[in-house]
Amino acid sequence: MVLAPERSQFPVLDPADGSVIETVHAATPEDGLAAVDAAAAAAAGWAARAPRERAEILRRAFDHMTERLDDVAHLIVREMGKPFAEARGEAAYAAEFLRWFSEEAVRLNGDFGTAPAGTNRMLVQHAPIGVSLLITPWNFPAAMATRKIGPALAAGCTVVLKPAEETPLTAILVAEILREAGVPEGVVNVVTTDEPGPLTQAILADPRVRKLSFTGSTAVGRHLLAVASENVISTSMELGGNAPFLVLEDADLEVAVAQAMAAKMRNGGEACTAANRFLVHESVAEPFTERLTAAMQAVKVGQGFEPGAELGPLINAAAREKVERLVAEAVDRGARVRCGGERLPGPGYFYPPTVLDRVQPGSELLREEIFGPVAPVMTFADEAEAIRLANDTEYGLVAFVCSRDLRRAMAVGEAIETGMVGLNRGVVSDPAAPFGGAKQSGLGREGGHHGLLEFLEPKYFAFD
Ligand code: NAD
Repeated sequence: MVLAPERSQFPVLDPADGSVIETVHAATPEDGLAAVDAAAAAAAGWAARAPRERAEILRRAFDHMTERLDDVAHLIVREMGKPFAEARGEAAYAAEFLRWFSEEAVRLNGDFGTAPAGTNRMLVQHAPIGVSLLITPWNFPAAMATRKIGPALAAGCTVVLKPAEETPLTAILVAEILREAGVPEGVVNVVTTDEPGPLTQAILADPRVRKLSFTGSTAVGRHLLAVASENVISTSMELGGNAPFLVLEDADLEVAVAQAMAAKMRNGGEACTAANRFLVHESVAEPFTERLTAAMQAVKVGQGFEPGAELGPLINAAAREKVERLVAEAVDRGARVRCGGERLPGPGYFYPPTVLDRVQPGSELLREEIFGPVAPVMTFADEAEAIRLANDTEYGLVAFVCSRDLRRAMAVGEAIETGMVGLNRGVVSDPAAPFGGAKQSGLGREGGHHGLLEFLEPKYFAFD
């Protein structure tokens, strides 16, 4: 008799009160390989479908998800904790990736030309790269899944999706919606686990897997790059961020504060694009900080289904302890607490909107992702110093620049080493745009036409 493995299930917890929502299957490495079998078996059939057919299935998936926004949002609130209105916004954003890539599925265009020597013709076509492993984080459990599934399926790839252990339920629902829309058996396979290491290692060791698309922390990304190197697997890496938010002396402060709130408080600060450092010209630092503090104090904290709630709990105890540690360290070094700064009473991992000013160089929260509702403010004296401070990080995902002079803001944005820049805008995410980072924030892009290319292998033919 074979004994059932000790841990065949793991619990999914509600961060608002720590209760168990549901238990889900803990996939073993063998389950992972069975998912690869299914994806490999479906690969040729899916790749052979006409692009228009794949497009129409993705478009139906967009329609289905749009009809089920409340269901998706409900699960996001339960397992991730963000307020319902924001969860519904995420669900709509997630659906948009399916629509965008349904439109891109018919644009798998190549190139044709004459060799420079005039001796022959050159033709480049794009083929699906093959079975793809998609690993997603907990902070946007629906959108990070469709941002990968959309382009993979449009390109003609089949996938194994491994969602974060905190948020498997949303991923399971997304897969169900795709099935309802007509995605064939084996094209999208979900494996859930709270021990991702051995499972993903087994999947990446299978030579049929040709792509790893990962969104998560830089530390885990670095590790997975090493694992993927064994089989020389193509990788797309959407990693951590440490976004600077620059307020130049000519900024419209009303715009700057509104956009600062968007950049900081989207997803309660638990976003890779979250403004992590506010760099404000010394001449406007006090009025900016005063207004930002007032806006932060007005944010309503509550459980995600509470009417009017704008900020939910952090994802777990460790996340809250990290925020507390970073705030305490900054205060020890001389930062001043303008609001917040102390955890809120439980249950749940609530932390209040917090503004710190006089943050000293060298403070850890200037180096690490805070991933919480904490806004550290520092000042600069001139543009050169602002750019130097903005670039003083290993990350390079996004930067925000506020100025009334668009030409100047562009020039500053060009000097900051990031993959994305928001000019007088605190949110840059858009399914139609190439999202991604420079430096240690990642490799490759998601969204736009670039997102599709990540799942395609160019093939070049030379002929007379
Ligand atoms: P994480 O790196 O801890 O986990 C991400 C995923 O990797 C999860 O599915 C997790 O189960 C898996 N994982 C963890 N250890 C693994 C291992 N050893 N082998 C294989 N898989 C493993 O990140 P998180 O806490 O879920 O998410 C927050 C991080 O994600 C932040 O750093 C944030 O900036 C980043 N993020 C980046 C983007 C982007 O587009 N650049 C978007 C969202 C989040």
